[in-house]
Amino acid sequence: MSKSYGDELPTQEMTQTTLPADPAPSVKASQIPVTNPVTGAVIGHMPESDAAAVTAAVERARQAQVAWSARSVRDRAKLLRTWADRVWERRADLIDIIRHETGKVETGALLEILSVDHVASYYAHRAPRWLRLQARKAIIPLLHRAQVIYKPHGVVGLITPWNYPYLLLFLDLLPALIAGNTAVIKPSEVTPFTAEWGVGLMHEVGVPADVVQIVHGRGATGAELIEHVDFVAFTGSTATGRKVAQRAAERLVPYSMELGGKDPALVLADANLDITASELLRAAFENAGQACLSIERAYVVEPVYDALLERLRHHAQKLIVSGKGGMEAHVGSLTNQRELQRTESHLADALAKGARKLTGGHTRPDLGPLFYEPTILADCDHSMLLMQEETFGPLLPLVKVADADEAVRLANDSDYGLSASVFSRDLRAARQLAARLNCGDVHINRAQINIGAPDLPTGGQRASGIGRRNGYQGLMKYVSSQSIMTDSRILQPPSLTLFDPLSYWATMRLRVLRRWLPFL
Ligand code: NDP
Repeated sequence: MSKSYGDELPTQEMTQTTLPADPAPSVKASQIPVTNPVTGAVIGHMPESDAAAVTAAVERARQAQVAWSARSVRDRAKLLRTWADRVWERRADLIDIIRHETGKVETGALLEILSVDHVASYYAHRAPRWLRLQARKAIIPLLHRAQVIYKPHGVVGLITPWNYPYLLLFLDLLPALIAGNTAVIKPSEVTPFTAEWGVGLMHEVGVPADVVQIVHGRGATGAELIEHVDFVAFTGSTATGRKVAQRAAERLVPYSMELGGKDPALVLADANLDITASELLRAAFENAGQACLSIERAYVVEPVYDALLERLRHHAQKLIVSGKGGMEAHVGSLTNQRELQRTESHLADALAKGARKLTGGHTRPDLGPLFYEPTILADCDHSMLLMQEETFGPLLPLVKVADADEAVRLANDSDYGLSASVFSRDLRAARQLAARLNCGDVHINRAQINIGAPDLPTGGQRASGIGRRNGYQGLMKYVSSQSIMTDSRILQPPSLTLFDPLSYWATMRLRVLRRWLPFL
């Protein structure tokens, strides 16, 4: 079962240096074709893992976890920081692979690599401190000693999507491994080679092969993985997330869910309209709109509505749509036919219900089969599908609102709660308004960027997910705590009551002290 990644390469950019390693011998069965969205040509095949291969991979990971977790946190973190340096040295290869699988522009692929590099440094410096044994306040100080230790869950199953195939896999994988877990990954079948490349390099720098493994396949392979692992880190659509969460809950294994979004932008009367327009365009059309954190709806207060439309039209003329390499292109190809169809049907529905097209609205077959023009729509309302469902394509709908209160009400009128943006010169008022938005992340005068700040926990509420990545929470979700209370009175006479005379005396006095000195 050999892959034919190199044999079928249709483009000039892919080289032998980008060939991923062969998968494990146990990985066999049918082959999944992988397509370059820019050309529509098949660039390779990936063997699909059957149920037995998934079970065997988790079993190997479970055995490897004993030795991996026995290594110090510092040792594991250092190894993974070395890996990130190696990735950085070879980033040109990785950019090629990401672009061949997703059709995104070069800056988009580079941003994925930068963000993971940043996270590797962040946890390498902090994880040893956060994961070490912690002393806590005992019931009776001096007589008792209270401590917390953090233990990895065991084998983490990562199920990841295709839109940011490097970022959304390694952002979760790094803290999982540093915490002492081993991992089995099921990447999207659309983008398996990015995962293969990154994990292959981990093995090259010395991470044992069974500590990180990949199984390939479609939904059934992901579903099989959930049956065996000790923690599920899922990133994908809300519909699939619900199924994954149900099964994990039945097995009583912990999980995190990074799901879909319908992120709103709120534009207030005192906003800088040029900054607002350029940021809306960037965040709506980054990765051709195929980002969970895309701005998918904008509420603009009436006094600046027309002026903002004008600024949007002006700045949109500068957007470069292209499938070529280089740092100039802003918008690349969509990745799948499914996204193209949904974009077209959301646009048709909005136009039929009275939306006004400012720019775009057409495919670009001259560039490739899945290119679509960045499309701005004015005069939208909540009766339209594109205001309710995740589009995951290059549409930016705008709604005119009377004031900030109406903007907040409409922004919160959604099952999703991933992130939002507020545009205003009054930063204090914008922060107060942010607190009224029902979502996990808010950006003020920016969009999408929280995920690039490793110290900020990021993630959704309600239909957008459960749990956080990045920050302290992003590491600590990969461990469970064990609390140990040691009683030092081993020379005391034995007692069968909880309140022996000394405990009783101390507890009564401590109760009074703690009533007034709670830090005791
Ligand atoms: P899907 O939910 O379709 O797939 C996500 C992953 O789950 C894929 O690897 C998929 O495999 C796998 N899968 C599918 N069915 C099952 C199942 N029954 N059990 C276990 N695993 C399964 O999402 P997409 O790949 O289409 O990604 C796009 C979605 O992801 C969007 O909704 C987007 O908003 C969301 N997303 C959320 C992010 C966040 O951080 N909140 C970030 C990025 C994307 P396969 O692809 O092989 O079918």
